[in-house]
Amino acid sequence: MENIKSIYCDFDGTITKKDAVNTFFEMYASPEWLEYEQLWIDGKITSQENAIAQVALLQNVSQKQLNDYINNIEIDDYFLEFVKFTKNNNIKLTILSDGFDLFIYKTLGRFGIKDIPIYANHLIYKNGSFKIEFPYRNVKCDIGAGMCKCNKIKEEKFCYIGDGTSDLCVAKRAHILFATKNLHKFCKQNEIKHYHFESFRNIIDMLI
Ligand SMILES: [Mg+2]
Ligand SMILES: [Zn+2]
Repeated sequence: MENIKSIYCDFDGTITKKDAVNTFFEMYASPEWLEYEQLWIDGKITSQENAIAQVALLQNVSQKQLNDYINNIEIDDYFLEFVKFTKNNNIKLTILSDGFDLFIYKTLGRFGIKDIPIYANHLIYKNGSFKIEFPYRNVKCDIGAGMCKCNKIKEEKFCYIGDGTSDLCVAKRAHILFATKNLHKFCKQNEIKHYHFESFRNIIDMLI
């Protein structure tokens, strides 16, 4: 594959085995979170409105529950090898996520990864409940994302890795796109050129 200098990568469902945000809501939010999720999927509310409403449904989560949850977030078996691969090949890796920065920093920190730039929504925990802020929002975002990925990427040529809805605004622009799960389905249906992957092992093999 041709020379790649910059790779942007989603977090939830891409680096992590399961979507760490949705799994957290499943465990700790009241069930109405699914109603907001549906309104968002149906295009009736933006991703930001959805996130604010869902985060407000998280109540009485103890610090221990939060820590235990984060400590058990599982990542792709080959992600660490992929990070090494990008370093060895002087490829700049950046994480763009419409999820929670707290989950990302702590999860990658557990594996000793501390030097990858991360752009995500800011989750604040205080006395059992949560607040969310959107330092990277963009009023012009096509999909009303909290963290607008299309706005963050300045390069003409870049590689993108993702799995779902939060990646739609950027997937079409990627020079090389690696897609899995829902993003893979979407790309197939809409004839967007992409490479399918199941783990970062596949991506390393394709980039070598
Ligand atoms: Mg994702
Ligand atoms: Zn956007």
